[in-house]
Amino acid sequence: MSARYGRVVTASGPRWARIDEALARYLDGPPWAGGSPTGEDAPWSEAALLAPVEPSKVVCVGRNYRAHAKELGHEVPSEPLLFLKPPSAVVGPGATVRLPPQSARVEHEGELVVVCGRRLRDVTPEEALRGLFGVTCGDDVTARDLQRKDVQFTRGKGFDTFCPLGPWVREGMVDRDAELTVTVNGVRRQRGWVRDMVFPVGELVAYISAVMTLEPGDVVFTGTPEGVGPLLDGDRVTVEISGIGALHHGVAPRRSP
Ligand code: MN
Repeated sequence: MSARYGRVVTASGPRWARIDEALARYLDGPPWAGGSPTGEDAPWSEAALLAPVEPSKVVCVGRNYRAHAKELGHEVPSEPLLFLKPPSAVVGPGATVRLPPQSARVEHEGELVVVCGRRLRDVTPEEALRGLFGVTCGDDVTARDLQRKDVQFTRGKGFDTFCPLGPWVREGMVDRDAELTVTVNGVRRQRGWVRDMVFPVGELVAYISAVMTLEPGDVVFTGTPEGVGPLLDGDRVTVEISGIGALHHGVAPRRSP
């Protein structure tokens, strides 16, 4: 298995690390920005993991699985459908997604998320694949009622906590047969395979790079398979992708100020 990288809470604050089986081996920066080992290490626990990226932007692709486009009543697009989530929405493994009072219908969208390893601008699909650092799991949490109501997706996709990521970044790329599942309270809701993407990863990243420069550590959500459904107070959600690992998050009402 290729290396895993993340951010760990320590007594001296969050630190980047290579996450080995027993030990977190600390780095002096994120690996896609030249971070190198400091020689220090310590045992780690899942509870101490933070979001494994600090992206300057979170780019998302909608309707990239036929069956999901259909379940929402849409045609499969002829070009990738792009939108952004604000970096302020990012939370790490074990976080709690907060249900905002403005929405009566918040849904999970488990997705394969790719992490850029270098600056990408106007690249070909082949260059895009070579320029990616690795992969992680994400939940493109969506206030479906607001997404449908607003012309832009900004509100429906952009609430604080609506972007769980993790538990780590696995270096390299998953293969075409990688399976993605989402369970809620132990019951499977979503299941899909990377090979069923309408636009594969290299094409997506190349398409995005013709619009905006992607920086090292930026992330791209690659779309969700069918089976999206509502999130309710107290739900326990797991997004698992073979070859990467499992991202867990909770769900609770937004705290009143
Ligand atoms: Mn999505």
